[in-house]
Amino acid sequence: MKSPRLQSRAEQSTQRTGKTSVEGGCACGAVRYRLTLLPLFVHCCHCTRCQRESGTAFVTHAMIERQCLTWSGEVKASRLPTDSKTRHEIVHCAKCLTPLWGQHGRQPSVIVYLKVCTLDVPEQFPPQAHIFVRSKLSWVSLDAEIPQFAGYYNAAKTWPQASVTRYRSAQC
Ligand SMILES: [Zn+2]
Ligand SMILES: [Zn+2]
Repeated sequence: MKSPRLQSRAEQSTQRTGKTSVEGGCACGAVRYRLTLLPLFVHCCHCTRCQRESGTAFVTHAMIERQCLTWSGEVKASRLPTDSKTRHEIVHCAKCLTPLWGQHGRQPSVIVYLKVCTLDVPEQFPPQAHIFVRSKLSWVSLDAEIPQFAGYYNAAKTWPQASVTRYRSAQC
């Protein structure tokens, strides 16, 4: 099944109701969260930081405005080093420590980087780009139709226009 079709299913339900019912949570169930809008953009990050922090080949992140993420249960943030020296935290379930989302820069950050595979139906949000493919592991093969970037990318040129507009208004 082609993933874009799954994504449009989520979009159709949003158009009907104006809201999403996109939910997820940690492994132990103590933290449950909900997105009140669809993500701005989804990318797979193959950077060496994401690889080490997750212990996996890459991490799939859905970017969404913080105000569009609500949750129940206790979370705790751990601060991690970054190459750019900007503040970077990962928010975990306080009980089972499942990483749920990342946040960068000033706190509270405007955008959070939700870990897509903590959603109940991660298949709804296939990646729209692969980034930091210069450190992609050699045995990971990518769909050539999905844009790939050696490092980070210019969001204003890569995201759909509606997401760029949403992002700009969230920063105000
Ligand atoms: Zn938990
Ligand atoms: Zn990364």
